[in-house]
Amino acid sequence: MLKIDNLHAEIDGKPILKGLTLEVNAGEVHAIMGPNGAGKSTLAYVLGGRPGYEVTEGSVTFAGKDLLDLEPHERAAAGLFLGFQYPVEIPGVSNVQFLREAVNAQREERGEEPLTGGEFLKRAKEKAALLQLDMDMLKRHVNVGFSGGEKKRAEMVQMGILDPSFAVLDETDSGLDIDALKTVGEGINAIMRSPEKGVLLITHYQRLLDYVRPDYVHILADGRIVKTGDADLAKQLEAEGYDEVMAA
Ligand code: ADP
Ligand code: MG
Ligand code: MG
Repeated sequence: MLKIDNLHAEIDGKPILKGLTLEVNAGEVHAIMGPNGAGKSTLAYVLGGRPGYEVTEGSVTFAGKDLLDLEPHERAAAGLFLGFQYPVEIPGVSNVQFLREAVNAQREERGEEPLTGGEFLKRAKEKAALLQLDMDMLKRHVNVGFSGGEKKRAEMVQMGILDPSFAVLDETDSGLDIDALKTVGEGINAIMRSPEKGVLLITHYQRLLDYVRPDYVHILADGRIVKTGDADLAKQLEAEGYDEVMAA
């Protein structure tokens, strides 16, 4: 589904990704863990097409298309969703307005009929219930005054409404308390665990992986994947730390 081959990328002329290779098949959840500054967020931004991140070598294929050739909105319409560590606030625009615009813009780009008001509302209510987010929160301006946990749950509601085929989630667990972690983890499973979908879960900690069980765990260090294993690798990292595991 997602094939990243020898990816090199830089910011302001500074190389950050240095030959990253990774393949995620449909039905798989891959976790990427790694020390601070390893390039995890950079990978997410490059996949999303954020300006300022320059790919200097390598390729990324998504669902048979050259991902790097697509504009960010085309990537989203092709089924790619990005969840960010620091969700943006959009004063003056309600979540409901924003989400309806977003889902229908993507549907239009795919040549699909827009969701009617009723269809959209049904979907929004269903996903809000799944993430245990009060519908009143969705009527408020996007993320304005939301707690860290509310932002993350709102972002997962957004993911549920957009119904992507592939999600790249960057530290979705940061700032979540124990209960929110469980809700968000179960939400990710409900929305994304499917034989047709794939997930790249970027995380510092193994705790989210107790809920979203990864098929593979990769360690990213200095811009490359330096080690790959199964869910046990995450447990080992938690117990021993990056230095020890990477040296082994
Ligand atoms: P991680 O998410 O793994 O903690 P990042 O991808 O955020 O790592 O950062 C990787 C490296 O890129 C770090 O050394 C960081 O300082 C650098 N970096 C990130 N963003 C920028 C930027 N906008 N300008 C310059 N350097 C950056
Ligand atoms: Mg970081
Ligand atoms: Mg990061």
